[in-house]
Amino acid sequence: MGENLNLFTSTQETIHEALSKMGYEESLYELMKEPLRMLTVRMPVRMDDGSTKVFTGYRAQHNDSVGPTKGGVRFHPDVDEEEVKALSMWMTLKCGIVDLPYGGGKGGIICDPRTMSMGELERLSRAYVRAISQIVGPTKDIPAPDVYTNSQIMAWMMDEYSRIDEFNSPGFITGKPIVLGGSQGREKATAQGVTICIEQAAKKRGIDIKGARVVVQGFGNAGSFLAKFMHDAGAKVVAISDAYGALYDPKGLDIDYLLDRRDSFGTVTTLFESTLSNKDLLEIDCDILVPAAVSNQITAENVDNIKASIIVEAANGPTTKEATKRLNERGVLLVPDVLASAGGVTVSYFEWVQNNQGYYWTEEEVNEKLEKKIVDAFNQVYEISQSRRVNMRLAAYMVGVRKTAEASRFRGWV
Ligand code: GLU
Repeated sequence: MGENLNLFTSTQETIHEALSKMGYEESLYELMKEPLRMLTVRMPVRMDDGSTKVFTGYRAQHNDSVGPTKGGVRFHPDVDEEEVKALSMWMTLKCGIVDLPYGGGKGGIICDPRTMSMGELERLSRAYVRAISQIVGPTKDIPAPDVYTNSQIMAWMMDEYSRIDEFNSPGFITGKPIVLGGSQGREKATAQGVTICIEQAAKKRGIDIKGARVVVQGFGNAGSFLAKFMHDAGAKVVAISDAYGALYDPKGLDIDYLLDRRDSFGTVTTLFESTLSNKDLLEIDCDILVPAAVSNQITAENVDNIKASIIVEAANGPTTKEATKRLNERGVLLVPDVLASAGGVTVSYFEWVQNNQGYYWTEEEVNEKLEKKIVDAFNQVYEISQSRRVNMRLAAYMVGVRKTAEASRFRGWV
């Protein structure tokens, strides 16, 4: 039998394991194994050619015992109900790990924004907000950007919600443009969080970032900013990739040039003679590997060919359970997604706080607060992995489930 590549069931399994390891009762697993609420919506949208297309979308709210639910909305042809559910569960874990007063939520629309005009995207974004408006709001569930959604889409969604609410409601959504109440540093926040995790992991392994060979899979929001941060820190970014291929230069790539040529969906390799595939990229000899693209990239099949000594997961679910186990046995330090990619939601929280108080912080303030959150979270997870002799993923889940478990108990839900 092949390994389990289903993100939803493998997340359930790890949540179960984490709760049992912490001594929580089975009823907590019953509560946390699925989102409390899942809304499916169908949205007719007028296309530019005059036809009407009906899109399907979802919003999952995993658990709101700690506070309102929080998480992005992704626009992608591969979105499905189970994926959205798993992603909402990951958001609960992320918020727990960095200690935010939120539970997890997530949304998605099955569509391909690469083939849609701005007008079509705007109509779809507004239709989605109208369809889910009853279950979202600044004190209920706060959306944000995710795969193929950006600050412009957040702006349209905020505007639509504000019309429905009859108030200007910047706290309804995060990842907005700065002029509409967005936070300094939000755009770079995910990559910044990944960078902080890389620094911490490198310290543990005695690796100097200056001169370290780094491979980044994916050149979207997280991957592109991360490549830039690593390059600026003196690392040698030897390979990057996008959905269409990968570029490799053992002497280090010219990251500024590639950033300049990248389109808004993170595509850049199509402009060059692609030197290798996305699959080969993972097996390059390097010190630090950052999967920042899609799920199920490091599996039982290729894990033994991975040469990096540190893997920091900027994407959601890039490494399977079996691969995680084998990397751990080999002594590879893996910083799991729910910790490494928590920088985005952390600065989203800062954005929401600023919206609620109507007082805005400088980029330095944001970065300082973000650094503290991620360093504390990293140390807590690392410590538990050492003291309980578990891999970093299980340790992160153990830290991540605690807040929701305790809050659910105090509320009398279990
Ligand atoms: N979509 C991002 C994530 O998966 C950010 C969520 C947010 O900012 O609420 O963590």
